[in-house]
Amino acid sequence: MNLHEYQSKKIFADYGIPVPAGHVASSADEAAAAAEKLGGPVWVVKAQVHAGGRGKAGGVKVVRDVAAVREAASSLIGQRLVTKQTGAEGLPIGKVYVESGSAIAREIYLSLTLDRDKGRIAVVASAAGGMDIEEVAEKEPEKILSVAIHPAVGLEAYQARELAFGLGFTGKQVGEFTAILKALYKLYIEQDASLVEVNPLIVTDAGNLVALDAKIGIDSNALFRHPDLAALRDVSQEDAI
Ligand code: ADP
Ligand code: MG
Repeated sequence: MNLHEYQSKKIFADYGIPVPAGHVASSADEAAAAAEKLGGPVWVVKAQVHAGGRGKAGGVKVVRDVAAVREAASSLIGQRLVTKQTGAEGLPIGKVYVESGSAIAREIYLSLTLDRDKGRIAVVASAAGGMDIEEVAEKEPEKILSVAIHPAVGLEAYQARELAFGLGFTGKQVGEFTAILKALYKLYIEQDASLVEVNPLIVTDAGNLVALDAKIGIDSNALFRHPDLAALRDVSQEDAI
């Protein structure tokens, strides 16, 4: 079962992973109210669908005043968004997420998923974030870093540091990165995730690491242990067939 970005970011925040401030909205009025509450000067209005590639498909709008937030929300809500990851029919946009705009210096790719061949959770990272990771894997496989986590030992500090250095982090960013990765691993295990993806994890102009996008997939077979997560299911995003 997949979660929406806004639901995933709430869970990230619960685990101490830095995310931009934001509010979910089901109407243009709610979006405008959310923008007022956040304060400017830049907001990002993001279509909430169970698919990536929203940015390139017009589902992520960067705006600079509250009237534009309202416009962006009303242009998205009630429409269907077609991205590279949806079928030709796209997915319905029932909600938008209104969040504060971040000043981006670097975009990193980071994810955790199960490597079934190894029988271990794999951390995959790349300095070539923000782009399609599939494309990076195909054209520049050397830019993809990966470590496998031993289930009995868990994520080891040296593994996190190795990735941090491989991504080019120095100074306090090494500590920020390892703290984020540790929290993501803890989340993955405790919530019975099948995928946790941050694309992009950004370095802000001020030098801080922030999860700018968030995608969590939950192992549906484990939902009986997580009634709180089961309640987040959005059947409008699922294909009944
Ligand atoms: P998707 O992966 O579905 O395209 P993202 O959340 O990754 O959606 O957003 C696409 C791009 O939009 C990001 O790579 C980033 O450049 C920009 N973006 C998203 N959220 C913000 C934000 N809060 N502030 C500034 N830029 C953003
Ligand atoms: Mg993304």
